[in-house]
Amino acid sequence: MKAISVLGSTGSIGTQTLQLAEEFPDRFGVVALTAGRNLALLSEQIGRHSPEVVALADPQLLPELKARLDALEPSARPARRPELLAGSDGLCAAAAWSSAELVVTGIVGCAGLLPTLAAIRAGKDLALANKETLIAAGPVVLPELKRSGSRLLPADSEHSAIFQCLQGTPWADTARLSTGIPTPGLRGIQLTASGGAFRDWPAADLAKATVADATSHPNWSMGRKITVDSATLMNKGLEVIEAHYLFGLDYDAIEIVIHPQSIIHSMVELADSSVLAQLGWPDMKLPLLYCLSWPERLPTPWRRLDLTAVGQLSFKAPDQSKYPCMALAYAAGRSGGTMPAVMNAANEQAVALFLDERVHFLDIPRLIERVCDRHRAEVKADPSLSDVLAVDAWARQAVLEASASLAPKLLLA
Ligand code: NDP
Repeated sequence: MKAISVLGSTGSIGTQTLQLAEEFPDRFGVVALTAGRNLALLSEQIGRHSPEVVALADPQLLPELKARLDALEPSARPARRPELLAGSDGLCAAAAWSSAELVVTGIVGCAGLLPTLAAIRAGKDLALANKETLIAAGPVVLPELKRSGSRLLPADSEHSAIFQCLQGTPWADTARLSTGIPTPGLRGIQLTASGGAFRDWPAADLAKATVADATSHPNWSMGRKITVDSATLMNKGLEVIEAHYLFGLDYDAIEIVIHPQSIIHSMVELADSSVLAQLGWPDMKLPLLYCLSWPERLPTPWRRLDLTAVGQLSFKAPDQSKYPCMALAYAAGRSGGTMPAVMNAANEQAVALFLDERVHFLDIPRLIERVCDRHRAEVKADPSLSDVLAVDAWARQAVLEASASLAPKLLLA
């Protein structure tokens, strides 16, 4: 029985992880949960999984959570009353909870950074879904991993695919993951991208894109922020930086390929030019289960891949002019230091403004570019944690200012 903690248990990654715990009750036990605001779902999860500890982001919500737990029907009550924590310290304490062996990081955005670092410092293995942490703070996270010996198992389907392909190579081991040391024999990788919500839209029509349009993903069911990131293809840009840190690859060795069927989850090219791919239906439960069970493979009754039913796998190069976020991410990654943190925070803020209908879809890359340009002369090459947190806060504010002062020019409604 592996003891797992689920950070962001009420989100898409969190709920799918808890479904796996229910599908494999003799393999995985849940010891810690954290959530943001969804107390109805969280209290139900506490009843079903009886964690030892639960942490909420906002301390003001604690009384309501207690009241909800008291009000649970006897049949829905947890077997034990969990310790209840809150605030940043509470999230970090839950992330570092002593009995946990593996921490699934399903918090969205840079809000996951401090809990993820807490888990690493406590020596926990991680199933990394919260890519923003590695993107914003790669130069801080990598040395911490080295110090603590924590292993970072990629939950993102593309990075899981690469990790799975590398299992077939003699040099692949998790000790090499996220060390920044190039993987010997690995020439490059191809990250596949579904193309997101607008893949079949002509570029000219993007001026009419609404929040409802951008949050309808053709292949994957995910949280709202990552679904918008998929529509701008910033998600793929973030994954490029994530892959750079996880597999120690130069940016020139990381390519993006549009693959609308989302059956091939990514490919590795080896030194002898052989290309290995991992295939499966687009379902996050598979990469999540591999994180939980690694290095074992657990038998599942899930629908088996039927390529004759798929019929055709197609590929094309991404359209750089339709999706400027990809180039912004490559540029931020190549610049390094604090620039990826600025780009990531600017993207989070711009996407939040878009979801609030305060800026247009096409303003997202414009705002990010403007803020990255402002930071260019200030980049710190080897940032500390406080440098990362400072530029993160600065970039969010800079986006708000840019969106307010430039609204008449930027808004394309
Ligand atoms: P969701 O929006 O569905 O869930 C986010 C979770 O984080 C919720 O539990 C939410 O709590 C919690 N949360 C939000 N804000 C805060 C905060 N400030 N402090 C603490 N907790 C907070 O996101 P996803 O599950 O889609 O994505 C989570 C992460 O996984 C992201 O980094 C994403 O890029 C990555 N990822 C997701 C995939 C997917 O299929 N969904 C695939 C690959 C990567 P509440 O809802 O209670 O407010």
